[in-house]
Amino acid sequence: MNLRLLLDIFFPPQCVRCGCALKEDDAICAHCLGTIALHDALFCGKCSARLPEGTRVCHAGFPYLLGSAGDYQNDALKSLILGLKFEHVTSAAKPLGDLLVRYAELLPVVLRGRIVIPIPLSARRERERGFNQAALIAERFADHFALSYSADILSRPKHTAPQSELGNFARRRENVKGCFSVAEPWRVAGARIILIDDVSTSGATFLEAATALRKAGAKQILAFAAAKA
Ligand SMILES: [Zn+2]
Ligand SMILES: [Zn+2]
Repeated sequence: MNLRLLLDIFFPPQCVRCGCALKEDDAICAHCLGTIALHDALFCGKCSARLPEGTRVCHAGFPYLLGSAGDYQNDALKSLILGLKFEHVTSAAKPLGDLLVRYAELLPVVLRGRIVIPIPLSARRERERGFNQAALIAERFADHFALSYSADILSRPKHTAPQSELGNFARRRENVKGCFSVAEPWRVAGARIILIDDVSTSGATFLEAATALRKAGAKQILAFAAAKA
């Protein structure tokens, strides 16, 4: 009997929300997963207006349109994200990626031809955590739609304080200012991009990343998070 099997017998995985025992490799039970209501539209990245037609009706100059599978206020969705990010429940990336897939299937946008790019962590943060949670979600999303995926187009040379420790938009914006870089702009010139992160709260991280990609020549950016605050 291998160690993994033995561990599962003595410490079966538990639902991140209700704590019930789960099968191997699951992170959430069917009941809790069922409490997550999916959005069915894109949002303005600037003012959060719902955009059911998938096109801008406001803030035309803003560098990205926001997409999110659900609301961060949802207990089950929040538990999945916190479990993935802070408790090493890497199996939570699977339901989070799948929620984004189901959400994207409801949108009136063509996904084909877009490049999927996860929001990078600084090298130091990725070492500390052992993985990039956004990349795990983004890989699953790109796989499902057979989209090209690249985790090395956008990099994060500057280490910054966690956004969750900062207050308002202005302070979060200041914190991430200039933290992203695009080493080879030709790879995004004229491209349509899907940026992916686990959660978008103030929007400052997406704005900074999208601004860097637009400066590098990206044509259109959808910024997708599993949840938005
Ligand atoms: Zn549960
Ligand atoms: Zn707007």
